Amino acid sequence: MKYLDEYRDPAVARTLLHQLTQVATTPWALMEVCGGQTHTLVRQGIDELLPAGIRMIHGPGCPVCVTPLELIDKALAIAARPEVTFVSFGDMLRVPGTSTDLLALKARGADVRVVYSPMDAVRLAAARPDRQVVFFAVGFETTAPANAMAVLHAAALELPNFSMLVSHVLVPPAITAILDAPDCEVQGFLAAGHVCAVMGWTEYEPIAERYRVPIVVTGFEPLDLLEGILMAVRQLEAGRAEVENQYARAVYRDGNTAARDAIQRVFHVTDRTWRGIGAIPTSGLALAAEFTDYDAERRFGVGAIHAVEHPECIAGAILTGSRVPTDCAAYGTRCTPRTPLGAPMVSTEGTCAAFFSAGRTR
Ligand code: SF4
Repeated sequence: MKYLDEYRDPAVARTLLHQLTQVATTPWALMEVCGGQTHTLVRQGIDELLPAGIRMIHGPGCPVCVTPLELIDKALAIAARPEVTFVSFGDMLRVPGTSTDLLALKARGADVRVVYSPMDAVRLAAARPDRQVVFFAVGFETTAPANAMAVLHAAALELPNFSMLVSHVLVPPAITAILDAPDCEVQGFLAAGHVCAVMGWTEYEPIAERYRVPIVVTGFEPLDLLEGILMAVRQLEAGRAEVENQYARAVYRDGNTAARDAIQRVFHVTDRTWRGIGAIPTSGLALAAEFTDYDAERRFGVGAIHAVEHPECIAGAILTGSRVPTDCAAYGTRCTPRTPLGAPMVSTEGTCAAFFSAGRTR
């Protein structure tokens, strides 16, 4: 299949690994930002095939994992209301809140539904004016354009019974927060290709320059990742710190301007709390003033809910790359994909789930 088989060719992978061995003269630590990249690296064993000294640190790019616990609790509080139809992508249903999850709430009779597009939620609201339809808008810059379009569509239809619980986060401020951490070991980044397909890479250029780190926009197939790693190591060995684009088949410097325009029209940049990491300034999106009528947090008065993480979960250290899942005492025993204690074990993009499904043991 085009764009799949050609990016999984073992002979090319061996060539890239050989080139990497020849280029790398000293240890380097790179972070892949996206959970999808982590999943490919771990599932294919690429991180274990790299030449000695080249270490991959798994970053915070799993949107399910970084959605704050208190937002899950707010989702649960809204979904439990009898007048509400709560609509979400499927990966949020098993994310544990403080006392339960959306799937358990659904089993107890709450009207919780899974959709594949936020537009399905808009259509549902139009079809059921007797119900309050709330869409759980989670994700990075990748899902924000479609969610923005859903709000614009609901506004055009003047739907009074549609709203969104928004938890959008932005990648560049997270990279900056990681680099600002005093114990940061990351020397180069593989930026998430799909995020850059929307946003382009101009936001990364001042980061590369200020922190002197190479940033390579990278895809998700095994050869994408090997080539992205090789490009980053070449920069490090040459003393360069630039933004390069490995994912040229999908990403342009300015991204998708129509998608960016939709985001800018519907959302504004705000501070966000990242699960396991904490507050990061200007790292999220919230509904712009023109669209606050669609803000489910305001409509249902759940703004005051606060939550405390499970004491055993070290997700924060894992999401910032200072620990790996097998360092966690609960990994594979008390915490498994069937019994997750923290979000990184729930999502297929979560680092803990990726390690578990690849059979990695403590
Ligand atoms: S293994 Fe489970 S408890 Fe441990 S860090 Fe991962 S999600 Fe949290």
